[in-house]
Amino acid sequence: MSKYQTKVVKFGGTSLASAEQIQKAVAIIRAEDARRYVVPSAPGKRFDGDKKVTDMLIALYEASEQGNPCEELLGEIEQRYTEIVGDLGLSLDLSPEFSAIRAQLAAGTTLDYLASRGEYLNGLILAGYLGYPFIDAAEVIFFDENGAFEAELTNRVLSRRLSRQRNAVIPGFYGSLPNGTIKTFSRGGSDITGAIVARAANADLYENWTDVSGFLMTDPRIVPNPKAIKIITYRELRELSYMGAAVLHEDSIFPVKVAGIPINIKNTNRPDDNGTLIVPSKDGFEPMASPAPGAITGVAGRKGLCLIHIEKDMMNQEIGFGAKVLQTIAEMGISFEHLPSGIDTMSVVISRADLEGKEEELIRRITAAVQPDFISLEGELALVAVVGRGMMGTPGSAARVFGALAKEKINIRMIDQGSSELNIIVGVNEKDFERAVGAIYAEFTAS
Ligand code: ADP
Ligand code: ASP
Ligand code: MG
Repeated sequence: MSKYQTKVVKFGGTSLASAEQIQKAVAIIRAEDARRYVVPSAPGKRFDGDKKVTDMLIALYEASEQGNPCEELLGEIEQRYTEIVGDLGLSLDLSPEFSAIRAQLAAGTTLDYLASRGEYLNGLILAGYLGYPFIDAAEVIFFDENGAFEAELTNRVLSRRLSRQRNAVIPGFYGSLPNGTIKTFSRGGSDITGAIVARAANADLYENWTDVSGFLMTDPRIVPNPKAIKIITYRELRELSYMGAAVLHEDSIFPVKVAGIPINIKNTNRPDDNGTLIVPSKDGFEPMASPAPGAITGVAGRKGLCLIHIEKDMMNQEIGFGAKVLQTIAEMGISFEHLPSGIDTMSVVISRADLEGKEEELIRRITAAVQPDFISLEGELALVAVVGRGMMGTPGSAARVFGALAKEKINIRMIDQGSSELNIIVGVNEKDFERAVGAIYAEFTAS
C-alpha cells in the first residue's frame, strides 16, 4: 500500500513523444491508485534532431503571420498525432479538432492559441487511452487582463472541479484570459500547471516525470555524469534554477510551496530510480533531509555578466548611497543580479545583455548621482553558485571552495555569501567558468 492518497503526475515532452513513450507513462499511472490527476506536455523529440510539437506550432504561427502557406506544416503536426492514435490502437478521431485549428488559422489566430494545441491534443489522447475525464485547462486556469496568473481564482475553481472527479487529465502549459482567449505560460510551463493542479487537488506529492533520474548536482554539459541529488529544499532548488540549472520551470515552486507539497522528479524511462525529492524545508523532513555537515547540494552558474565597481571614502556613512545607485540602475530599466559590498566599496552585478548600448550613460548617471571617488565597469564575468543547506552553521565550506579554485589557479573576482549561509557565490572570469564549476564539484564529491 502506498502511503500516498493523491498524487499529481506531470509528464514532460520526451515522456510522451510517441505511442511507446505514452505506454510507459500509462503503465506508471496505472501502477498506483494514488496517481489520480495527470498533466501532459506536448509530444517532444523522439530522437536527436527530431522536432518538438510546440516548436512546430510556433513555426506554424510565424508562417501564417508572414502570409506563407501553412498546410504542409499543419499536415505534419496532424500526422504526428494520427500516428500516435493509430499506434495506441485508439478509436479517437482528431479531425474535428484539426478542422477547428484550420478555421482559427483562416480567421487570424494568436500565437498562444496555436502553441497550446500541443498539450490540448495530447491531453485528449491520454484521457481517451486512460479512460479518464478530460478537463480543458482553459476552463480552470486563469490569467488577468494583463496576462498575470490568477493564483487564488484558479485554485478555487480548479479545486471545486477536481473534488467532483476522482481522476482527470488536465493539459499543461495554458489557461485563459478574462475574455476567454487562450494564454500560455512561458516555455517549459507545463511544470507550472502540474504544481497548480497539485495545490488544487491537495495532493500529498507532485511527481514530475522527465528524461533524467532527478536533478543532477551540476550541469551534465560541464561535468560528465554528475551525481543525482537525492533530496533538496525548495530554497536550494530556487537558487540553483535561478543560476541556470533548468530541469523544472523556476516558477513551478510557488504553487506547491504555498501548500507545502513535495515534488519528486522521476525518470519515465527508469521508473524505479528514486529521482530527486524536493521538500518544503529542511526541518520538516529531518532526519531524511539532513546532509553530512559541510556537504553541498549543487553547483550552478551563469556567464554573460559584468560588474560595476564603485568606491568612495566614507560611503558607509552616507545615508541613501546604495539606494541612489540602485535607483539610477532601475531608472534605466536594468535589473541587478547581485550586490556584493565592502567598506567604502560597492559592486553591482548586471547582465551584459541588459546593459548593451547603455554602458556610458549608466556610468555618467551614477557618477552624477553619488559622485564616487572611483567607478569602473568590468566585463566578462561569470558567477558560480555553490548551494547547500549542509553548509549552514558548518565552518570550512567557504575555505574549501576557495581552496579548490586556488589549486586550479583560478582568480576570484568577487565573493558573496548570503546571510542564510545557504549559498556562496563567486565571480570568476568567463573563460574560467567551466573549470571553476568542475573544480568545486570535484572538491565536494571526492570520497
Ligand atoms: P521535460 O520535457 O520532461 O519537461 P526538460 O527538457 O524540460 O524535460 O528538462 C530535463 C532536461 O534538463 C534534462 O534532459 C537535462 O538535459 C536538462 N538539465 C539541465 N541541467 C540539469 C541538472 N542540473 N540536472 C538534471 N538535468 C538537467
Ligand atoms: N510544450 C511546452 C514547451 O515546449 C511546455 C512544456 O513542455 O512544459 O515549452
Ligand atoms: Mg520541462
